[in-house]
Amino acid sequence: MKSFSQKTKEYLCKQETGAVCCCEAEMMGILMFAGRFKGTEVRVALESRESIGRFAELAQKSLGVSVEVETAKSSYFCVLTHKKFFEIIIEYEKSADGIKENVMNNECCRDAFLRGAFLGGGTIVDPNKNYNMEFVTPSKRICDGFKKMLDSLNLGFRTVEKKGTFVLYSKNSDIICDALAHMGAFSSQMEVLNVKIEREVRNDITRTSNGETANMDKVITAAIRQIRAIEKIDEKMGLDNLDEDLREVAILRRDNKDLSLEQLGKQLTPPLSKSGVNHRLKKILDIAEGL
Ligand SMILES: [Zn+2]
Repeated sequence: MKSFSQKTKEYLCKQETGAVCCCEAEMMGILMFAGRFKGTEVRVALESRESIGRFAELAQKSLGVSVEVETAKSSYFCVLTHKKFFEIIIEYEKSADGIKENVMNNECCRDAFLRGAFLGGGTIVDPNKNYNMEFVTPSKRICDGFKKMLDSLNLGFRTVEKKGTFVLYSKNSDIICDALAHMGAFSSQMEVLNVKIEREVRNDITRTSNGETANMDKVITAAIRQIRAIEKIDEKMGLDNLDEDLREVAILRRDNKDLSLEQLGKQLTPPLSKSGVNHRLKKILDIAEGL
């Protein structure tokens, strides 16, 4: 099962690479976050074949240098030895913020660098669980320079030092949406937006229902998750392929969004206890998760 981060990166890797200036900026974003110096070479290691393939493509398009992709146990990497890489690394080094001025000043290149930084050192949590986007680097200078760039894009990330690494993070759904849009991860942006809208609708419902507010909220959260799982199963394998007892509960749940588990149980023949219904819905969630 792919994580939300992996899906986001996969989507980014499928997008067209931009102008030459942007190819260079995106490549450097990856290199700054995923590159490690070792003597006279730089090793760039990434977790997926698509990401490293994109790095190689960007290097080819911006510097005209071909790099070889190698495979390790759980990652893909390339070793950079060509002098053109060092020339550009030095240009970055010499810049005030550790990121080349024309990248800092060019909106197209800033977005491309951000995309590269995400491919090289970024993660995003599934918005259904939590809102959190992070970039991790061992270098304080890269952290500070990148923060400045994010600020210039109105993306107010915070920084924290954790065991010798520097983490830039945001837990703000608006900032995360904007960051995804800047890097061109539109499918993930849509997903975060959908979750946000759902939560807002739910908050409206609970705000208007006095009394059992907390309980109501729980019921609706659970129901939304269950209904989504059921819809996913229906779409990917068809509800007909579920076991009889699961199918019965799935259809009942789907058609009665507002009923509690107890009420659902009473509608089954023979009636089922609340925990019995819960048990079957859990199985349904598990099946959907694995699809
Ligand atoms: Zn550009």
